[in-house]
Order: sequence, then structure tokens, then C-alpha cells
Amino acid sequence: MSVTIIGSGVAGLASAIALKQQGFEPLIFERTSEQSTTGIGAGIVLWPNAMFVLEQLGLLNKILKVSAPVKRMRRFNHLNLALNSMDIEALNLAAGFTSRSILRADLMAVLQAEARALDIKIHYNHELTDLAETSSGIRLSFNHSHSIYNCQTLIGADGRMKSTLRKFLLGDNAPVYQKFINVIGISNHISYRSSQDVLDYWGAGARFGIVPVNSESSSINNSPELASQANAYWAAGWYSAEKDSAAIDSQQLLNSLKEQFKNWPAPVKQALLATDHNTLKKLYIHDHTPDERWSKGNILMIGDAAHAALPTSGQGACQALEDAWWLAKITAEQEISPEAFTRFSAVRQSKTKAITQSGRAMARTIFNPDTEACKIRDINLSQGPQSADSTAIANFWMQGLA
Ligand SMILES: Cc1cc2nc3c(=O)[nH]c(=O)nc-3n(C[C@H](O)[C@H](O)[C@H](O)COP(=O)(O)OP(=O)(O)OC[C@H]3O[C@@H](n4cnc5c(N)ncnc54)[C@H](O)[C@@H]3O)c2cc1C
Repeated sequence: MSVTIIGSGVAGLASAIALKQQGFEPLIFERTSEQSTTGIGAGIVLWPNAMFVLEQLGLLNKILKVSAPVKRMRRFNHLNLALNSMDIEALNLAAGFTSRSILRADLMAVLQAEARALDIKIHYNHELTDLAETSSGIRLSFNHSHSIYNCQTLIGADGRMKSTLRKFLLGDNAPVYQKFINVIGISNHISYRSSQDVLDYWGAGARFGIVPVNSESSSINNSPELASQANAYWAAGWYSAEKDSAAIDSQQLLNSLKEQFKNWPAPVKQALLATDHNTLKKLYIHDHTPDERWSKGNILMIGDAAHAALPTSGQGACQALEDAWWLAKITAEQEISPEAFTRFSAVRQSKTKAITQSGRAMARTIFNPDTEACKIRDINLSQGPQSADSTAIANFWMQGLA
């Protein structure tokens, strides 16, 4: 049975792989000329729930080769006061799977290679512009030579910013701007080469997070444009009530970050110092308010299109992978049908809603522009429990997976 998927990001590719393994024939339409290997997010932490899914898809060894272990998350304020930490090894132990950091380009390369190996067809340069239910199925319109394609079953994995599927299902696809900006980049600073500690610095309404990702097999380390070793990826963020419209090039952006974070602790300055400006990307951060209308008949949306959470949740790509696993599980038990899509939505909504809410709560704490409130926040955190409850986090993230 053929299944049409819109979008070849994490959700689209992983779902196509999972469905192909169940004997379905997925066909993907992707708007880009060639799947962008960077996408949103320079890198990702694949938490144990994502590693569980990747193992189930048969991709664990390939991922292990291009990713790196992370063992601890240490949080400080911008004056280097220790706030708290998370023992990631304890989290892994409680979950039964490891946590790995990976450049997004490498995750996409593994998924793309598997799709090729499984002979999954991807039509690039096909941006879905419209869809309609007809008496004989679903009619898709693409910008590519104004082509039309008819299908019976459609899965929309077309991301958070302008999902055509979300527009069709809800009538509105506008994501919610959450009043902070992120700039992401990749650093080759030597000090991260052997580190397995995620560093997270908080200021008043600002943040700088650094994730070591050194993996010798990483594709970026063989990239001619980025000839240097990628040792860490980072994200700088700050509160911004409005989306600024200043058009600056990546070198100017890097210079402005060096100025903005010049009084922050040494690891922040080192990360910026050893960053190639070509790796920078500036993002206005949006999510979606949870909504329960994910499917209609044989049409379903998944991934960020259905449940985009803020990067402060740390779970967006992990949840996109969980969607793939659940699709495979449900379709192994019952055929793809409107009932299967309703069941998928019912199973996935409470966890993804909780993750969206946790991302928002975390963002409010971090990107609070009130300096005095942040001073109190820092004192409370530095005097509170020094370690997060790894078991509770593991239980939450592994919920439903077995
Ligand atoms: C700054 C930042 C940091 C992040 N960090 C993390 C992290 O550490 N851990 C984590 O788990 N998650 C993280 N995320 C979230 C994660 O990147 C997303 O949740 C994940 O990529 C969602 O996958 P997706 O396939 O649903 O969407 P996407 O990856 O956005 O893929 C959508 C695909 O659909 C295509 N498409 C869109 N519209 C159309 C159309 N009309 N026709 C055809 N194709 C179309 C796009 O070109 C794209 O290929 C981060 C996000 C941001 C912004």
C-alpha cells in the first residue's frame, strides 16, 4: 500500500523508513532541491527515547559512529555561579539507553542513506502548495511545473513554520513567536575535543549553551568549506519582544555576539572565538499551541507540523522520531486507515503537549528580561538541589516506549 509523505526532515524520513519496514510503499515530496543537511538546529541531543527509536529502526550502530556521548549537564549563571546540574549517565541508566550529541547534518545523512538503501522514492523540488479531498481521494498541487498528484493516504511532515497540512487541518498554520531569538553555530575550540559535559550559561533574559559533539566520522569534518574539526555546537539566545529586522551578514552577526557575550565565562568566549561565521544561523523561535485536530480521514500531520515545541524542551527531533515508531507500531497492528490515524493522535497528544508546555515554562525562566527576578532565580537555584531528578526525567521521556 502506498503512503504519500510531505517533507523529508526528521519526521518524514524516519516515518518513511519505519513504514517501509512494515511493508508499505512510502513516497516523499520535499520542497528543497536536495534535502538541506543543516535544517533547523546545528546539532541535537538524541536523548534515550530517540536512541530507543533509532535502535528499533536498525540505525543504532550508524548513529553511534557519527555521534558523541554526553555525560553531564552543568548549569551556571553568566557570572559563573554554579546553579545546578544533571547527571546524564544516571538518566541513561534509568532509561536503559544512552544519550548522544550529533550534528544535525550527520543525523540527516544517516536517515537519507537508509532511505536510499530501502529504495524510498523522494521527489525533490516539490513544494506542496495546496491539497483537497476529492471523490476519488486526495489531490495534491505542487509548485513544480504546476504538477498535480492524487493519492489515497497522506502524512504531512512539513515542519513548524508554514505547514500546508496544518493549514488544511486547522485552517491556520501560523506558529507562535515566543519572544526570543537563537543564533546557532559550530565551534572547533580544542577544549571541547575530549569533553562530555554540556554547558549551559544563563544571564538576565539570555542564554549560551554549548554541547560537545566531537566525532571523527562526522561528515562536517570532511567538508571542504568547513575544513576544521567540529568539536561543539552552541546556541546563543536572548529575549526579544519583537522580531528585529536588521539584515546583517554572518560575519557581522558573529562580531555582534562576541560583543554581546564578552563578559561571560571563558567557555562562551572560546566557543565564539573558534567559530566559522559560515556555520551561523539566526532563528526567531516559534512553537505551536497544542491542538487535537491532527487527522481527518486518511490525512495526518506529524512532527513539528503537529506538535512543534521550543528548543528549550530539548525534545523536538526526539518526538519526531517517536512519531515514526508509533506509526510503525500502530500500522503493524491495524492497517493504515482513518481509525489508525485517530489512534495515533490519541496516543501521541498528551506526551507532546506536556513537552510543549515544559519548553514554554523553561523559556519563561531563562528568557525573563527582569534582571532582579533573574538574580533571585539564580540564588534560589544555586541554593536548591544541585542535581535534577534524572529518574523522573527518564520516566517521562521513555513514557509509552517499550
Ligand atoms: C534552534 C533549535 C534547536 C533545536 N535543538 C533541538 C535539540 O537539541 N533536540 C531536539 O530533539 N530537537 C531540537 N530542535 C527541534 C528539531 O529541530 C525539530 O523538532 C525537528 O527538526 C522536527 O522535524 P520535522 O521533520 O517535523 O520538521 P523539519 O525538520 O523542519 O522538516 C520539515 C521538512 O518539510 C519540508 N517542507 C516544508 N514545507 C513543505 C512543503 N510545502 N512541501 C514539501 N516539503 C516541505 C522542509 O523543507 C523540511 O525538509 C531544535 C530546534 C531549533 C529551532
